[in-house]
Amino acid sequence: MRYVLHAPPRVHYCHCSMCRRSTGSAFAILAWVRWDDVGWIGDTQISYRSSPIAVRSFCGDCGSPLTIHYDEASGVATEEVAFHVGTLDHPGRVTPAYHYGVEGRLPWADCGAGLPERETEESWDA
Ligand SMILES: [Zn+2]
Repeated sequence: MRYVLHAPPRVHYCHCSMCRRSTGSAFAILAWVRWDDVGWIGDTQISYRSSPIAVRSFCGDCGSPLTIHYDEASGVATEEVAFHVGTLDHPGRVTPAYHYGVEGRLPWADCGAGLPERETEESWDA
């Protein structure tokens, strides 16, 4: 499974509990682009509903977490999809610009010092 981004992504750290669970790591680094700016190569992407407001996908070849996008129910824009930055061919060419979901940040997660911070805006009634 490969993809091509035709526009520069909006990149940020995400410390929310949903990203922590889906990546199995302390936080995610997400690269957002409009759906129209994505070229898909191959068809091994496997999607699943990760919460009542979001769908995530992973690569069916290697298992890497690949994308997340939100539903209308989330109250946030649905015209974008985010890729986990580690799946880019050249992740060093993008730079996270802010922290998101900071209410869930682990106290020892030491990254992106000095960047702007925002709490999670989308949620659902569990
Ligand atoms: Zn998140």
